[in-house]
Amino acid sequence: MHPNQPIPPARPISEIGSYHAHIYFDADTRNIAERLRAGVSARFAVRLGRWHDVLVGPHTRSMFQIAFAKDLFDTLVPWLMLNHGGLSILIHPNTLDQRRDHLEDALWIGTPLAILGDRLPTDGAEPNEVGEINSEPVPGIAI
Ligand code: ZN
Repeated sequence: MHPNQPIPPARPISEIGSYHAHIYFDADTRNIAERLRAGVSARFAVRLGRWHDVLVGPHTRSMFQIAFAKDLFDTLVPWLMLNHGGLSILIHPNTLDQRRDHLEDALWIGTPLAILGDRLPTDGAEPNEVGEINSEPVPGIAI
């Protein structure tokens, strides 16, 4: 932002409908991604996305996505911080501006990767809800 521009009003966190974690891997680290996915599935009620071995959307490495509700942020994100196993993970809010969500308002665990932002809409083309939960947390497992 230019220093002489007026400061916009603060954005309320109610803009955030949910979060995504994108877990990146390659042929050499797919086994780490598989172990991470199983670890998440055993501990958190989330929506685990398909394996994308072929590049999709704005992503420049193979990946799978974890969609999760806002109330899981303070347990799932620290768990990923401690258990990413060297993988790069992008965590972003889901508002109605996917480009800004991924490029400007995200955080990285591990080494940041390129994101092809021009492939993302800025006008809320995708729902920002978690969708159907498809993981199976094990009762009593340590987080
Ligand atoms: Zn995403």
